Amino acid sequence: MVSGFPNSWDVFIVGGGPAGLATAIAARRHGLSVVVADGAVPPIDKPCGEGLMPDGVEALHHLGISIPESDAYPFRGIRFVSDGTKAEAGFPRGAAYGIRRTHLHRVMADHAAACGVRLLWQAAVTGLHPEGALVAGELVRARWIVGADGTGSLVRGWANLDPRGKTAQNKNLRFAFRRHYRVAPWTGFMELHWGRHCQIYVTPVSDEEVCVALISSNQKLRLEDALGQFPELCARLANAELASTERGAITTTRTLRRVYRGRTVLVGDASGGVDAITGEGLCLSFKQAALLGDCLASGDMAGYQRAHRALIRRPALMARMMLFIARHSHLRQRTMQVFQSSPRSFAGMLAMHVGEGSARDYVSNGIALGWELLKA
Ligand SMILES: Cc1cc2nc3c(=O)[nH]c(=O)nc-3n(C[C@H](O)[C@H](O)[C@H](O)COP(=O)(O)OP(=O)(O)OC[C@H]3O[C@@H](n4cnc5c(N)ncnc54)[C@H](O)[C@@H]3O)c2cc1C
Repeated sequence: MVSGFPNSWDVFIVGGGPAGLATAIAARRHGLSVVVADGAVPPIDKPCGEGLMPDGVEALHHLGISIPESDAYPFRGIRFVSDGTKAEAGFPRGAAYGIRRTHLHRVMADHAAACGVRLLWQAAVTGLHPEGALVAGELVRARWIVGADGTGSLVRGWANLDPRGKTAQNKNLRFAFRRHYRVAPWTGFMELHWGRHCQIYVTPVSDEEVCVALISSNQKLRLEDALGQFPELCARLANAELASTERGAITTTRTLRRVYRGRTVLVGDASGGVDAITGEGLCLSFKQAALLGDCLASGDMAGYQRAHRALIRRPALMARMMLFIARHSHLRQRTMQVFQSSPRSFAGMLAMHVGEGSARDYVSNGIALGWELLKA
């Protein structure tokens, strides 16, 4: 290990992506000593829609991080586009940003370092040990081990927290591919284009670049082929230079029965997550990280597990609803008609999506939307 490296830490975090860095910052705020190990080289990139919703921006803010305007592109709401119909609504409050993952990573890693987090890059974690974790086979002692190693988490398996049986088969697994195009954003909205068996997200990430992410259940479908289903979008991108190569990832909605065992605890995508269609994964990770920071300080992991379960409920419900309308084209057409003719319905759903409003608002929005659908 590096010379002068302390031989024992309060918290060892496996994975220096958004969830790992956010947890490190939250734990440092309680005065805990924290080391983060990631196998990759910063700034770390990852296939993502790169939209940070207002609740995500706020959650970052609570961790002391502000997104520099020069690194991101603000957008004011969401636009749905389906079969020639468009519906759009602004966020009830707060800013949302399109931000390249590499920029987000740099901002977060710089902040973590400034908070006193020890960052180890190109340091793959190879296993757990009764006294800590193994980095390239060498023991690093720590009181707590946090698995923030993403969807395919090894820590989850090592700690015996992987789901079994039907959940483990992951029938909801979906496949995503993203690419950047050099073109000026044509709208102040993040767009979600609904296709027959796929969806495409377009997020403005700078004043000369957009991020385009395809999500579908078809492992073989690529952006190039899927774009044919979206003539308007295709025309917008036709002459745009490619600004990145196509990169793929998997996404799913998954909740775990347990997110800790002994002194190993999971956060971010490693701890379950929501389908990328929601654009809520980062926000969820930041909120979990803030909670976990408190619970690492108090040692109350049962409390973390309870709060974790409560946090994922709303985004998981939104994911289920969005995937339901994705699968039923007739219902989707009706919903789009309602959203177009009654922008308040869409605004109400969007407010709910980003966690604004009370449970009563959610129920009344749901009833109003149901009624409009019946009339449509
Ligand atoms: C196509 C797509 C689009 C998305 N769009 C959005 C969006 O628009 N908005 C949004 O909020 N969310 C979006 N998400 C979700 C979001 O990307 C994730 O929720 C987020 O990246 C989770 O962060 P994480 O830190 O948990 O995991 P990751 O970002 O996957 O980071 C895990 C880290 O762990 C490291 N690691 C793994 N194994 C080891 C090991 N053994 N040792 C050391 N390090 C290790 C990896 O190198 C990586 O850096 C999208 C997801 C997908 C797939």
